[in-house]
Amino acid sequence: MPRKRRSPFPQTLSLSLNAVLTLTLSFIMLTQLLTATALAEGRYAKAPLSELSAVKAWALKDAERFWVKGESEVFFYDKSSYPGNEPIPSLQWKSLDGFLAFFYGALALPEGSEELLRGGRIRLIVTKTPLTFAFDTHGGVKPLKKNVELVTAKVNSPGIETTGSPFALGQWIDAGRWHKDVVSLSSWSRYSYGEGINASRIWLADRFRELPGFQVSEFPFAMPGGGNSNVIARMEGKSRPEDVYIIGAHYDSISEIPTRTAPGAEDNASGVAGLLAIARVFADYPPDATLIFVGFSGEEQGLYGSRAWTRDWLKNGNEKTIKAVLIMDMIGYSGDDEQDVLLETSALTKPLLADIQRAHADAELIVSESFDYWGSDHEPFLDNGIPAILFIEDDYLDYPYYHRSTDTADHMHLTLGPKILRLMTDSLGQWVFDATTN
Ligand SMILES: [Zn+2]
Repeated sequence: MPRKRRSPFPQTLSLSLNAVLTLTLSFIMLTQLLTATALAEGRYAKAPLSELSAVKAWALKDAERFWVKGESEVFFYDKSSYPGNEPIPSLQWKSLDGFLAFFYGALALPEGSEELLRGGRIRLIVTKTPLTFAFDTHGGVKPLKKNVELVTAKVNSPGIETTGSPFALGQWIDAGRWHKDVVSLSSWSRYSYGEGINASRIWLADRFRELPGFQVSEFPFAMPGGGNSNVIARMEGKSRPEDVYIIGAHYDSISEIPTRTAPGAEDNASGVAGLLAIARVFADYPPDATLIFVGFSGEEQGLYGSRAWTRDWLKNGNEKTIKAVLIMDMIGYSGDDEQDVLLETSALTKPLLADIQRAHADAELIVSESFDYWGSDHEPFLDNGIPAILFIEDDYLDYPYYHRSTDTADHMHLTLGPKILRLMTDSLGQWVFDATTN
């Protein structure tokens, strides 16, 4: 990357791939144990998304009707049968004959269940027998929610106004170096209780230390059965040091044989290499606001590193200084010809999402938003009212090597990860530079 100060710039792009999946699961921590909502009868249908408003209007007329919006269709349900008065007369109704629930995560669906709809990292499923609801950081089953949008897809089409960022530093993301760092990180089994995690932590801290302007430290924390450390790299803002922007990714990994082989290339060397890629850009263009890059650990066991760090930050009473938290977890896989990214967050971040959409100038990158957040390092921040957004590739449910010893760097898409990193860098550019210093 050229060592020069700011100037205005363009961007480059490209695409492709394909795959399938599924896996085993273990619900270690059962945070809920309930019986399924009694919805064993009634009828349902699915409609194209273009019919969403008609379906909503229809559902509102009766308390026993509801809808769920997925990625490509809207599901709707009706407890009883009313001849006539159908929202979309051409659709085929089916009888439900089962129990509805939401399934979170990329693990195998419960036995005997069927997927009715999906959106983001969540699927609406139906089962023949009532389910036990159980949920942990890797996902699980939750009760039925009515009238929800699982995902909002925003294709970068002419209908969406994107002006691009005035501080479009994303062009300086080094795609080749990002992939090289994914290869380096995935050479270690980075299990939170293994040996390799120490070497990977030292490697990560050393990479940050090579960059001018960063103060690098470790943040030790306790977790069940041992301790661990986050890696912190802080770049103090030139004129607004009290305005803090966090960029985070967990560097620990897991697999079916985690003490021996857990390369975690997609999950989450892709995101950790992303931390370095973004940090290198801002090392060349020092920001007016403060940037803190955090490599979290203990994520796979229950978000221990991000929980401990957030708790410590709040203890100091300065939560208001965090203006945004951008988390990366799995940014390097594409399962089809589309290059897409999911921004998972809560309604708290809507103003930030609007800024991100404005900065989004890559017509090939499809952005979706989900407001039902769970299971990564954005969660402790959002739970405490701090605006945080998870950036995750949108074929997450299809990654065949998720939490496997086969999650290796050769499965990474060479352009998707860098596209996501450019969007993040351009978005940050809008926030961390004073307009007057341009
Ligand atoms: Zn992860």
